[in-house]
Formats: sequence, C-alpha cells, structure tokens
Amino acid sequence: MNENRVCYRCLLFKSGREDILNDIRERILRIPPAEKTGDDEYRRRLEICGKCEFLADGTCLKCGCYPEFRGAFVKNGCPVKKWRNSGRENEN
Ligand code: SF4
Repeated sequence: MNENRVCYRCLLFKSGREDILNDIRERILRIPPAEKTGDDEYRRRLEICGKCEFLADGTCLKCGCYPEFRGAFVKNGCPVKKWRNSGRENEN
C-alpha cells in the first residue's frame, strides 16, 4: 500500500489523519458558543465539502484550511461560495 496516496474528497475523519483531527476537535471545543456553528449547519457544510472537487486529504485546496475547522466558525464561508453562514445563504 502506498503511504503517500492522496485521498480526494475526504474530510479529515476519513483520511486517517487522526492526529490533526484530534487537535482540531480540541480547538473547536474552545470556540466561544456565540462564534460556533450549530450542529445542523456544521453537518451541512461538511456534507458539501465532502463532495467538493477542491477537497484533498482533508484540506481545502482553495483556502488551505481544514473544512472541519473552518466550518466550525459561524462567521466563515466557503471561498468559492458553495456554503455560507446559514443566516446569509441568500446573499451573493
Ligand atoms: S470550503 Fe468550499 S472550496 Fe473548500 S472544500 Fe469546502 S466546499 Fe470546497
């Protein structure tokens, strides 16, 4: 098995990068509630990222972020506008 394989359209939890994912989960726990994305919206964002052509090995190739972390902040949006803050979905 090739250890350097790139997992396209894989979020961190599927890519086997548990060390990074655990660090991100700890950071998400420290986000103040007012700044943190709600569970339903968070799932919606990650579902979109999980089907995105710009996702590789758990990293967004458009912004360099980990979607699991970027999506956890309510104020953040997708760099190519595939998802936005749920309260601003109709803005463009
Ligand atoms: S943040 Fe946007 S561009 Fe990046 S992986 Fe998610 S949907 Fe794709």
